[in-house]
Amino acid sequence: MTTVVKVEEKLYVNRYLVDAGRPHIKVRPHETPSAALVALTHVCPAGCYTTNDRGQVEVAPDGCMECGTCRVLTADSGEVEWNYPRGGYGVLFKFG
Ligand code: SF4
Repeated sequence: MTTVVKVEEKLYVNRYLVDAGRPHIKVRPHETPSAALVALTHVCPAGCYTTNDRGQVEVAPDGCMECGTCRVLTADSGEVEWNYPRGGYGVLFKFG
């Protein structure tokens, strides 16, 4: 019998060391987000992007897996400032 494991359950085993006050990803100030920026609220595998009540996109990168999707999707618009976390911070993947 095959056991099906949900993606959320796999993500839950990862661990993160948050660099408090120094987010490695920032959304540049904007009035109206581009379609690419809005898309991040749906495609970020860690659910880091949300839309606030003014329709602007925000990021809380604490659970970021450093996949780079948001970096690639906003490369043309420049709406996201993306860096790797400082050494020792960020995601710690657990395999198995
Ligand atoms: S790098 Fe990947 S996981 Fe991290 S915020 Fe961007 S899309 Fe989400």
